[in-house]
Formats: sequence, C-alpha cells, structure tokens
Amino acid sequence: MDLQKLVEDVLSDAEVYRGHGDPASYIPVLAKVDPKKMGIAVAAKDGTVYCAGDADEPFSIQSLSKVFALNLALDHVGAALWNYVGKEPSGSPFNSIVQLEAEKGKPRNPLINAGAMVVCDSIMGDGTADEAVEEILSFLRELSQDSTVSIAQNVAESESQGGFLNRSLAYFVSAFGNLTNPVEEVLSVYFRQCAIAMSCRQLARAGLYLAFDGKDPATGEEVTISSRARRINALMLTCGHYDNSGEFAYRIGLPGKSGVGGGILTVAPGVGAICVWSPGLNAAGTSLAGAVMLEKLVERTGWSVFV
Ligand code: GLN
Repeated sequence: MDLQKLVEDVLSDAEVYRGHGDPASYIPVLAKVDPKKMGIAVAAKDGTVYCAGDADEPFSIQSLSKVFALNLALDHVGAALWNYVGKEPSGSPFNSIVQLEAEKGKPRNPLINAGAMVVCDSIMGDGTADEAVEEILSFLRELSQDSTVSIAQNVAESESQGGFLNRSLAYFVSAFGNLTNPVEEVLSVYFRQCAIAMSCRQLARAGLYLAFDGKDPATGEEVTISSRARRINALMLTCGHYDNSGEFAYRIGLPGKSGVGGGILTVAPGVGAICVWSPGLNAAGTSLAGAVMLEKLVERTGWSVFV
C-alpha cells in the first residue's frame, strides 16, 4: 500500500470538516490555536512516518500523555496500580466527579483525569514532581526519537490557573487515600504532562511500539513487555475517549486516545500507529475532523481490531 498517497487522500477526504467543532476554551491558551489546522501521520513497521497537512506542527498533547504515563506507572509499581485506580470505562466526561463519591475516591480508569492523577502519583513514588516530569519527557523524547520534545510552560500555567475542577478531583481522590504524595505536587506533574507539545509525526512514531507488542519494530528495542502493551491497548479501546469510547470503537475500531488539544493517537496492531490533529472538538472532547480522518483511513485500509 502506498502510505504517502493514503495520508494525502485521507486528508482530502476529510477536507469538508476542516474547522468544524469547537477548540477547548476552558484552557484559554488552547482556544487561540487556529481551528483550521489539520494533520495526519502514519508510522509504519520500518519506522518511516508518512505525513500530510500540518503533521509537523507541535500541538498540546493533553490527554494523549496519559497513555505513556500509564506505561511508566506500570513499570514502576506493576499490578499494585490497580489498588488505586480501576480498569472500567466510566461512561462519563473526562473531568466528571460524580462516580468518585460513590466509588470511594477510586477513579474508574487511568485515562480519565482523576485516574491519570493516580498514575502521576505512582510515577512520582518517593521522588519529586520534577523528576517525574523529566521521566515522562525523556520517555517521549526517546520514543519519538526527537530530543526537542518539550513542555509549553504557558499551557501548563493556564491549566493550573483554571484548574479548579482538576484540583477538586485530586483532593477527592486524596481524601480517600488514593494518592500518596501531596496533592499540589501530583497536580504539578499532571498539568505539565498535559502541556507537552508534540507533532503528529512525533506522536505516531512514539506510539509505534504499542502496535508491535511493546517492541519498537524499527530498532528491535523492547520498550515494554508484550502483555503490558496489549493491556494498554485494551484500556485505550474501552476508555480512551471517555463517554465517547463506544462511538469511537464503533466508527473506527482501533484502540485510541483523544486529547482536548485536538490530537488522537490510534494503534493498528501489527500495522502501525496513526496520529491525527485538528483542534475543533465534539461534545466529548474528541477532535471532530480528526475522528473523520481516522474513519476515512479505516474505510480505505480495512485496518480494524475486529477484522
Ligand atoms: N488537561 C486536560 C484537563 O485536565 C486534559 C483533558 C483531555 O485532554 N481530555 O482537563
């Protein structure tokens, strides 16, 4: 298959959706991003990344960071993570607080905000917030093979300043003993990981190991054990888009993770990793044109975990 032609065709298939949806406005800096941007990148088995549109422009990865942080937390604490966070879809928005009271401060899964805070806490362990952030950043630099990956400090500050709901979630989780470090320190890791800026090209390359059982197919390096890579994919499929996860699985049929910066990272097992970006979101915080690009890609290729 001519993958360069594929990404170009998919971009033009979705052209009518350019600018559709609303960029996240609750993080003021994100509201300023040009809503007409659209990019797509497919990382293939040999490590080549095929790109079209604005695929080299860094954007705020937001909740896409939760996938890589989860991998690191599992490396740190293994199955003990599941004492503090569950593995079930929430059926609720990413920043919902309702289940937390009924379920005694144990977040439903690691891909909603409250669960990702537990993940940050596990990465911190006995260390500092700065060390945890450095670890996440180094992991992403290594995976994307790009040492320029960094944090947009203005986004991190904007998130922290307006982060009343995220603070409420974190204090709630902590009140039930599901955080071991001070809440503000855990939040400082969370806000900074969300504020990492990366391009579609970098993210597709970074996610490639998840499509190949935890092993980077181009370098042969084992990033994580195969069972862990499969389980991360399972969580992405069932929980990666919050209360839109069923719809995403139905339309696209691949494990994926959305972020309110407009990025979606998707894994096609045995084939490659795909990242799309367009800032306009649907009501659940998933990129509208991004989801259309993925739908068109799947239509053209037949890539699906349900084949
Ligand atoms: N930083 C965002 C928040 O905490 C992440 C949400 C998202 O990307 N879905 O609200």
